[in-house]
Amino acid sequence: MPSYAYIRKEIVPLAEAKIGVMTHALHYGTALFEGIRGNWNNEQKQMYIFRLKEHYERLLNGCRVLKMDLPYTLDDLCRITVELAQKCDFHEDIYIRPLAYKSSEALGVRLHDLESDFLVFAIPWGRYLDVDKARVAFASWRRPDANVIPPQCKITGIYVNNAFAKTEVVQNGFDEAIMLSPDGHISEGSGENIFVVIDGKLITPPSYNSILMGITRNTVIELARAEFNVDTLERPIERSELYTSQECFMTGTAAHLTPVTEVDRRKIGDGEIGPITKKLQKAYSEVIKGNNPKYSRWCTPVYPATAKRTK
Ligand code: PMP
Repeated sequence: MPSYAYIRKEIVPLAEAKIGVMTHALHYGTALFEGIRGNWNNEQKQMYIFRLKEHYERLLNGCRVLKMDLPYTLDDLCRITVELAQKCDFHEDIYIRPLAYKSSEALGVRLHDLESDFLVFAIPWGRYLDVDKARVAFASWRRPDANVIPPQCKITGIYVNNAFAKTEVVQNGFDEAIMLSPDGHISEGSGENIFVVIDGKLITPPSYNSILMGITRNTVIELARAEFNVDTLERPIERSELYTSQECFMTGTAAHLTPVTEVDRRKIGDGEIGPITKKLQKAYSEVIKGNNPKYSRWCTPVYPATAKRTK
């Protein structure tokens, strides 16, 4: 099934979407990306894009930080993305990758006096961490301080840090990396936020521990409160607290809610998926597929509801 990209104001086959070798973003990491999911609901023959607006709000905030003036409003970005997903016509879970980038074909390290542009493409993508129970380990690489590169923005250049961490632990036989903040508290995974359960309470690192403020993190905090009456404490977490926690899981658009059952070769709890993790995982998977009307405000349908689907 061919895929498409939106680039330079038109939708073209993905294979034809190219940028020049001198593009500023390619050399200096001066771009921002998002990862958005379209979740296929087979009963309804519908695709729901999850929290589309929130992803583009984060992207546009990043644009302010990186001094990018995109010639698009929030509404434009949402509309273009739905049109692109319709054109792709996939009937399976997809991953949508928008990129706002310094598009000038100019060399020289800077943020100013450069043009910016926006592109987006979509590809079919199943599970990111392809395990039911993740075995994770701390990487020797730490997250950058907010005054080194702001971790709150999905700046492409910062992801070299994540790549160092991921490759180190994967080549050591684990599924995912956890990184520490500059001051030695638990920060996040290479592409996920992290939660632990201690004494029946959910705890997750706060914004000032060099995390990306994940949209899945926010979703899980809301679901835990509204559906299960479980509050989440945002506070610094010590490494040893993770070892002795009863449950642990990671959250991210790509990874969804992935249970973590082993950290640094130590079992979390009894090494099985814990009860709070299990019920949150189930609730989350229904919400993102558009099966819970209470949260339909988070789900943007891609296809007209009344159209006859042929496949
Ligand atoms: N942290 C990092 C470093 C990430 O790359 C991601 C994925 N975007 C997340 C956390 C989770 O964020 P979200 O739930 O918004 O996808």
